[in-house]
Formats: sequence, structure tokens, C-alpha cells
Amino acid sequence: MQYVSVTNLCDFAARKGSIDTRYTPTPSSEDGRIAHALIQGQRKGNYVAEYPLQGTIGELKLRGRADGYRPISTNGYPELEEIKSHRGSLERLNPDKQNLHWAQLKVYGALLCLKDDLEQVQLTLCYIDIDSEKQHSISQYHTRQDLIKFSAELCRVYNVWHQQEMGHRAQRDQDLHAIKFCHPKFRAGQRQLAEDVYKTVATARVSLLEAPTGLGKTHGVLFPQLTAMPRHAIDRLFLLSHRNTGKSIWREALSELAPETLRVVQLEARHRSCDNLTLACHGESCPLAKGFYDRLPAARQQAADQAWLDNDSLSSIASQHSICRYFLAQEMAKWCDVVIADVNHYFDQQALLYGLMRQNNWRAALCLDEAHNSIDRASGMYSVSLDEVDLANYAKRAPAPLKPACNSALKAWREIRKSNPNDGTTFLHEPPKSLVSSCTKLASKATEYMIEHPGDAELQELMFHCMSFTKLAETFGNHTLVQWSVYKHRHRFQRARIKLQNIDPSDFLRHRWQDCQSAVLFSATLQPFEYYVDLLGIENPVTKAIPSLFTKDQLTLRVIKNIDTRLHNRQHTAQSIAQRIQQQLQETPGNYLIYTPSFAYQALLEHELCDLQMGHRIISQTESMSEDQRQLFINNFRQQRKILGLATLGGIFGEGIDLPGDELIGIFIVSLGLPPHDDFHREMQRQFSKRFGIENAYSYTFLIPAMRKVIQAAGRLLRNETDYGLIELIDQRFEQPEIKALLPTWWF
Ligand code: SF4
Repeated sequence: MQYVSVTNLCDFAARKGSIDTRYTPTPSSEDGRIAHALIQGQRKGNYVAEYPLQGTIGELKLRGRADGYRPISTNGYPELEEIKSHRGSLERLNPDKQNLHWAQLKVYGALLCLKDDLEQVQLTLCYIDIDSEKQHSISQYHTRQDLIKFSAELCRVYNVWHQQEMGHRAQRDQDLHAIKFCHPKFRAGQRQLAEDVYKTVATARVSLLEAPTGLGKTHGVLFPQLTAMPRHAIDRLFLLSHRNTGKSIWREALSELAPETLRVVQLEARHRSCDNLTLACHGESCPLAKGFYDRLPAARQQAADQAWLDNDSLSSIASQHSICRYFLAQEMAKWCDVVIADVNHYFDQQALLYGLMRQNNWRAALCLDEAHNSIDRASGMYSVSLDEVDLANYAKRAPAPLKPACNSALKAWREIRKSNPNDGTTFLHEPPKSLVSSCTKLASKATEYMIEHPGDAELQELMFHCMSFTKLAETFGNHTLVQWSVYKHRHRFQRARIKLQNIDPSDFLRHRWQDCQSAVLFSATLQPFEYYVDLLGIENPVTKAIPSLFTKDQLTLRVIKNIDTRLHNRQHTAQSIAQRIQQQLQETPGNYLIYTPSFAYQALLEHELCDLQMGHRIISQTESMSEDQRQLFINNFRQQRKILGLATLGGIFGEGIDLPGDELIGIFIVSLGLPPHDDFHREMQRQFSKRFGIENAYSYTFLIPAMRKVIQAAGRLLRNETDYGLIELIDQRFEQPEIKALLPTWWF
């Protein structure tokens, strides 16, 4: 039997009470480490820090490390010490949490009694306040009999679960050994993809696989991943997606391939799965948080038995036990073989899945669909913005203890504005030191204040922003731009906003790839590979492109060279573009999509198109469309013919929509969709030339992101082997060799 850590044993069997996510400011792990070292350094004589303990209690083999051990304490007993750091008054420390600390210490005590054949030990729980370094120690004396009895009960509870889990794992692996592909045979290219995925797991690598549309990518990736799980001792499979529809695609494929024993859970963001969104997550506010841990064991057992935990089944189980389904899903992420989740659950700063994987030493395999979106998503996870107005608004009603910190932060804003007074955006060389330091102080004061006065949501949000800002400022480098924007608030008062905008997340992601067992990133648009490898921080990857299933004769490709779509010529050329489109629609009526680089250009073109009699209904994407409006837009193509849709490149209809056959017979791509040559992108290009060389900077900033959008938009056309259609690239620059080199070779 494998060892069980004392921490995991207690977390499972000794945790009681309610969820409480009110900001009771627990120290960071770095603070905790410093506090531990401080106390351990003060202990003299025969004190041994980080004392390892292991032994068998009941059926379980346990292992752990007490913070301190003394063979003989001043009271004449062998002593074990556990150090816990905290902030603020000890009286506010959650009693449920204190019980958990004692439980851990008692199990260590039992292991010590067994190891040294002792009859009694002294257990000391030492709390240290991070800010004041004040220590408070509580000692208890326990007999061997009491400690073993206490620990044996925890072990009994855990062991019942542990035995079940081992049985589940054996059955799961046996069933996975026997799975069969859900179709009679692989499609062309799909087998090759499946082999590449299997090899990735077998050799514990990270792969970037470009796999074309129509190949059945999801099945082609999932089947070998499941097959590899028992053969390569994979504990967990994380199926990650950038969009909610991506999660549904994983779920549907799993429902066809996975054996019934495989436990699957889908994680959602809190705003999508909370039943009491207006309440706070603690027992005094939300009834579903109250007594959560007391009712969890029964719910957890039912969820484990059910195995397939999509949103509906989680809701049903949670409501039967009157607990929160959002937190139930998080709990089940510990016990499910497969977790379907958004990418942020593995990659962001506080990612749940990454934390669980490290804590439990899981061998976890990752699969990322639509991996071409990973750079932008990850950049967003490591960016933060602060607005002076938010602080000024809070400062007006700030309680007296926080006034000085708020005023000092506001003073820092004002002084930076004096040095950078012009309305508009400029780029600073680094986050202003005065602002970082005043935000650090404000966050610290707010932390202290909230210990005694929890529940101020506005203060909590301000504090989290300040903390996030200072944390990212600490790791500042040329992977991040500092945007300083001055603007007129309510058309009168000058105010400022600062944004730490990450442009290259590779430094933050490198360890995420190294720590998993294997990872497969796949997409229909993943070239040039070097761009993704560089910006995602992947070392020594496998890269492969599977040839397209479509042939040149399925596609009519035209480059319209005599129309200039650059910004200064758009007014003059919109009419020519409209006439060209009219000509095509008259020759071959049907459903078409026109992609433009901006809503302004789209409006201009729509105006010209409306003036022409084309016999087609024109529909347009608008800037903020609800889910229903989006669906309506797509349904027009599904249910009607002679539809001419206008959409933006890189927008909501630029990828992820499937319009096979005559639902879509042609696409016009108007202009290259290059990012604007503004200060931001010039600054980005400058930093990229330092990070990736001057020869790559322009393409990494402008060309590759633009062509990715073009290829994704064009990818809406041919969806299966019997599709035919037209792509018109309307801009003379599509003929330039450096642009052509970034487009799929089979187009030409
Ligand atoms: S139901 Fe909502 S408010 Fe209540 S504990 Fe769950 S997430 Fe928090």
C-alpha cells in the first residue's frame, strides 16, 4: 500500500463545519516559510526541525513531517511542535480550522508514540502572527492510547474511502485497457493523430499537433489518451478548453468513448454554477455553505458512485444534500479521473488543478483544444489594471484606520500624473515604485482591517487588485508592458489608469508544462510552431502538422489584387468591394460570409452593399451580442439560403462555427486584419525583438496573429470531405511572399 500523507488524511477525515471564503487573510506560503524558519531558528538545545515521522495505524501507512521535535521538553515529556502562521487576532481564527491543526498534530503524536514506544507526549501548537511576529503556544498532553484511538478513527474513515479508491482505480484501468474506438475505422489522418498523441504520453513529452478540420480531432486525441492512461500510470487527465462550447465537445466525445467506471467532472466558473450569486461564500450568509463539510462525505460518496458528473448531475446531488454544487465540483476534482475545465483552472496564478496536481504528486496528462488561443488567454491571466477612480471613490468612505494608506496611494497617483500629464496612453519603463509601494501598504493595512471587519466587498476587491498589481510588479520584466493612461473623468477631472499588460506569458507557463506528465496542444492553426513554442515557454516539444483532408479542387481561391484595403483607402474602395461581392452573388447565389478587420469597416461595407440589389438578405454581427442573438445569426445560415453575413476577423464568428454543405458556400476576407500600428504594438515589437530577435519581432507582433485570424475565418468554409466553396482574399498584400508563407500551402 502507498503512504498517505498526514495532511491529506486530516483534510479528508477531520475537516468539519462550513465553507468560509471571507477574506480571513491567511499568510502566503512564503510568509509561512519565513515564520517557520524564524521559530525553528529560535528553538535551541536538542530541538530538531522538520522531524520525519511514519508508521502504520490500522490499515494505513502514514507519513509526514512535524515542524519540530524535542526528545525531552522542559516538562519532561517528548514534545512535538506544529507551527501555524496567521494574521490578526487569534480569537478570529476559525475553530474548525484550529481543530484541523490539532488533528494533524495528534496524528503525528500517535506516530511518535508508536515509533519510540512512548506512553505520553507533549503536543504544542504554536501560532505566529506574521506581522507582529508575536507567538502564542498552546500545549496539550496526550497518552499513547488516546492518540492512537483518535488517529485510528481517522484512518478507519479514510481507509474505507482509500480501499474504494484503489478498487476504483483497478477497475478503471481494467476497463480502459479494453476500450474500443467508437467508429468502425479511423478517418484519414485521424489514426496518425492518435498515434502521435499516444507517443506523447508514452514518452512524457509536450506536443503541438496541427490537425486539420474534418479529421475528427477530439476523438483522435481522446481515444489514445484514454488508452494510454492505464498503460502509463496516468492518475488524471485534464481536458482543457478555451470556451464553454469546447467543454461540451469534450463531454460529448467522452460520452462515446469512456467506460462507465471512469469518473468525469466538469468544472465551471463560480458565476455559472453558484445558486446564490448575491450571497457570500460563508455559513452566515449562504445556507449552502453552512455545514458544507459536515454533509460533504455523503454527497462525495454519491458523486463518486455516480461517476459522470456534468452540471446536471452535480446540481442534483448537491441539492439532495443541501450543499453548494460549485464547491462540490471542486471537491470532486480531487477524486475524478478526468476533469473537463477551462484553461484557467490549470494555468492561472491560483489554478486549482495545477495546485491539486502538485499537492498530490499526480501524473497528470493535459489536452488543450484550440491551442492557438492559449497565448492570448494566458497573457490575460498575467495582466492587471488599476484605476485611480476606484481608489478615489473608496477613499471617500474609507474607515479612519485606512484613510492614511488611501491618501498616500492617491498622492502617488497624483505625482505620477504630474510627470506624465498628457491625456492618452504612454508606456512607462517599469511600474512606478511609489505606486507599488503605496499599493503594498494599502493592501497590508486593508488586510489588517478586514481581519476585524470582514465582509466589505468593495474593499476586498480593491485589496485583491492591489495585491495582484504588486505581485505582478514584483515579477516585472520585458514580458510585460506598463500602460499609463490619463483621461478625463466625467469630462472634467483628470484621472489615470495603469495596466500591467503581459505580452509574452512564457516565463509564467514554463513550469506548468514541466510539472505535468505530458501535454497535447492541438488546433487546426498552430503554425509556425516556433511562435507558439516561444510564447508558451515549451521546452523541447514535439511538433507535427497532419496534412489537410481537403484537396485543391474543393476550393476556389481568389486573391483580389486590384483593391487596396489599407486604412486610408477604405472609403474609396468599399464600393469596389461591394460590387465585386455583388458580382459573385449574381453568378452563384447562396450563403456567404464577409469578414472585415473592424466594425467600422463592416458598417462602411454594409452601407455599400445595401445600396446594391443583390437578392440576398444581409445580416451583421454587432458589438455586444447575447447568446441568443449569436445563435440566431448562425441559425440564419442553417435554415435559410441567400444569406450574406458580415462579421469581424478574430470575432465571435471568426472560429468555432460549423456550417457544412450549402449552409456556407463562400467567404470573403477583406484586408489582412493586421493589428493596428499603434504605440502599443510598436512597443510590443520592440520588446519582442529583445526577447526573440529582431528577425522575428514583426511577424510575432503583426503577421502571425493576423494570419491566424484569416485562416480561422477561412476554416469555416470546408467542414467535410464533400464540401466545395470559394475563398476570396481581398487585398493585394495576400500575394506577398511573407504573407503567403503563413497561409496553408494546400490553398495554392
Ligand atoms: S452557492 Fe454560491 S454563495 Fe453559496 S457557497 Fe456556493 S458559490 Fe458561495
